[in-house]
Amino acid sequence: MDLGLEGRAALVGGASKGIGKAIAREFVSEGARVMICSRSAENLAAAAEEIRSETGKEVEYAVCDMASHDDIKRTVAAAAEKLGRLDILVNNAGGPPTGTFQDLDERYWQHAIDQNLLSVVRTVREALPHLRRSGSGRIINITSVAVKQPIDGLILSNATRLAVVGLAKTLSRELAPEGITVNNVCPGNIATERLIALIEERAARQGQTLADAVSLEEGRVPMGFLGEATDVAGLVAFLASDRARYITGTTIQVDGGSTTAVF
Ligand code: NAD
Repeated sequence: MDLGLEGRAALVGGASKGIGKAIAREFVSEGARVMICSRSAENLAAAAEEIRSETGKEVEYAVCDMASHDDIKRTVAAAAEKLGRLDILVNNAGGPPTGTFQDLDERYWQHAIDQNLLSVVRTVREALPHLRRSGSGRIINITSVAVKQPIDGLILSNATRLAVVGLAKTLSRELAPEGITVNNVCPGNIATERLIALIEERAARQGQTLADAVSLEEGRVPMGFLGEATDVAGLVAFLASDRARYITGTTIQVDGGSTTAVF
């Protein structure tokens, strides 16, 4: 299916690795111009080179800590300038640390709120004038299956991502008259560095080998295997396209059937 992304311009957060990088690669393959960002210039250069060698197309990049308001302002402006326009905004950053309520003090909460909630508010605010000019602006927030079923030991993620879902729902209704859609994509069991690190932590706590912990995790997925970042990227590319022009305010999981919640 030609998604018609040729000529569109996208800014993708947290994209030197994992799901963000797969989304950037998918956009580039579909003919969009893309700027990726993360906190490390070295990792960004490597990701841009990897995408270039796979697709034959250039990717712009900018160092941006999604927890920093100043970085976001600078990065959105740079994306609009280098790409010449901005049609698609993918809000993505690393997940907050694991831990219980007892473990995590005020500093952790503030950082998670900055990185995983206010980053969305700030990028949208900066990008909105450009998305309005686009005529078919797209805002896609990468959250987590935790918004449908909170995950024990991930209290910061459970709290901040649900706030993103509430924000996105209201924003989708406010921006719908301008043809801008706002949707949330919820990965679960996607075999990226983040997930493997979480499984490793759990394995160490429970005295298991990593291989045993991975098979245990796979056994919990109705499809019987962990997903790839490309599984998430396919949905994001569709939501970014004109084919999805009437889809807004939704929260869709990509999790091999793990979530038992109905909505
Ligand atoms: P990952 O750790 O593999 O990649 C995260 C990317 O974001 C990296 O490029 C990293 O450098 C970048 N990053 C981290 N913090 C940043 C910051 N403050 N500013 C800018 N860039 C930053 O993670 P992933 O598995 O690709 O996950 C992407 C998002 O999806 C995360 O928020 C994660 O918590 C969430 N998620 C993933 C899964 C999964 O199964 N993999 C499940 C639920 C939720």
